[in-house]
Amino acid sequence: MQQPNYKEALRAEIFDYISKASLALQTESYVIGGFVRDYILQRETATDVDIVSVGSGIELAKKVAALLPNQPKVQVFKTYGTAMLRYEDLEVEFVGARKESYASDSRNPTVSSGTLQDDQNRRDFTINALALSLQPDSYGQLLDPFDGLQAITDKTLITPSAPDITFSDDPLRMLRGIRFASQLNFQIDADCLASIAKNCDRIQIITNERIVAELHKIVLSDKPSAGFLLLEQVGLLSKILPELTALKGVDEQQGQKHKDNFYHTLEVLDNISANTDDLWLRWAALLHDIGKAPTKKFDKKNGWTFHGHEFLGAKMVYKLFKRLKMPLNAKMKFVQKLVLLSSRPIVLATDVTDSAVRRLIFDAGDDLDSLMTLCEADITTKNHLKFKKYHRNFKTVREKVKEVEARDHLRNFEPPISGALIMETFQLKPCREIGQIKEVIKEAILEGQIPNEYEPAYELMLACASKLGLVPEEKN
Ligand code: ATP
Ligand code: MG
Repeated sequence: MQQPNYKEALRAEIFDYISKASLALQTESYVIGGFVRDYILQRETATDVDIVSVGSGIELAKKVAALLPNQPKVQVFKTYGTAMLRYEDLEVEFVGARKESYASDSRNPTVSSGTLQDDQNRRDFTINALALSLQPDSYGQLLDPFDGLQAITDKTLITPSAPDITFSDDPLRMLRGIRFASQLNFQIDADCLASIAKNCDRIQIITNERIVAELHKIVLSDKPSAGFLLLEQVGLLSKILPELTALKGVDEQQGQKHKDNFYHTLEVLDNISANTDDLWLRWAALLHDIGKAPTKKFDKKNGWTFHGHEFLGAKMVYKLFKRLKMPLNAKMKFVQKLVLLSSRPIVLATDVTDSAVRRLIFDAGDDLDSLMTLCEADITTKNHLKFKKYHRNFKTVREKVKEVEARDHLRNFEPPISGALIMETFQLKPCREIGQIKEVIKEAILEGQIPNEYEPAYELMLACASKLGLVPEEKN
């Protein structure tokens, strides 16, 4: 690897201010962690910068803020001994160099101040323990007592101190390790991996919010299967997402096997990740088959079936989000909807009737494109001819959708006859008949019996109402 120019990494104005502030306070300060790692890796420049001061991080932050032209607000987190300020597009976090020691019965460490090297030693991985000096006489010098640079070259994740201590002290580090492996395409050192497997039960003491933040990063990596395979391998997945490990395995009855839905799911997730960076669409891919484990059945006539797995899967999405304390908002509903509809376009691929396409457009609404992307990613057959054929079928479905949409304007369907109009025409108060009439009109449009237009819908309303014994009120 070409020797990076670390002064170039410190070209943002803010570093100059930090350097001056720490000189004024007669302390030393360093840029440390992800910012340095990402600069060496030439990843997109991080917007969060971590500064460690051999002294008080809070004092340094206040001094920096006082020197800055706009004197930004300093947010102080007293319990953690850290402070944060924003300058231009950077979020800068300050912490005093510290030593941490954990008692086995507590997840909160006893913290005492320490040297830079003590602080580097408490970091999770050697690639995250690299520091750049901000002292005027050694500005931009790399401090790397744990061979983090070599680990970057070797694409290896290894802990600065003994792995058992590192992972048991803060079990989130296990997930962070797997997340970095997935994001950066790095290998976890063999002893570290064994230690994660040994300590995986300790993940229970970590809050769901922190777990989910790491899961999101795994889901968003280029090839998320790498992260999920590691999670499974070390025994973490069954503790965090048991719905996924339940999909593992192939059963055989009377010579008939079904596919391993766990590995299939990971393939679908990788496939979709090549086509979208949408976090929630990727989650939908990850969860699209979770209903298959509890619905799996074998019978002589039909072989292996998973009847209703989409419906059950959608219900399981809600429970899973709730358990992991993920917000139960529109994103959750989107994932549910995609899981629920995940098999619909496949059925269409072999039987593209206008009315089936209209129903799909109606049910999927604005999420139709996402649904199609999911379904195409769902094609994982290893049979080359079938693979081509399925993709061809999907192309036909997409074309048909376009054609029907252009003609029928069904996306975000607004019925041409509103409930209010029905009430006014027949002088009705809110009642069951209004819903019945609207349903008949909607069905007729979706079935293609009438066009999606006012006149024919109005005629149908009159006919339908008359069957229900309703007579239009004469207009004066
Ligand atoms: P990213 O910002 O891409 O998520 P990062 O490594 O910068 O990655 P941050 O959460 O920003 O992660 O943390 C900044 C630095 O703080 C890390 O590089 C690492 O040195 C240290 N760090 C963060 N979390 C832990 C932890 N749980 N245990 C030990 N060190 C940690
Ligand atoms: Mg960071």
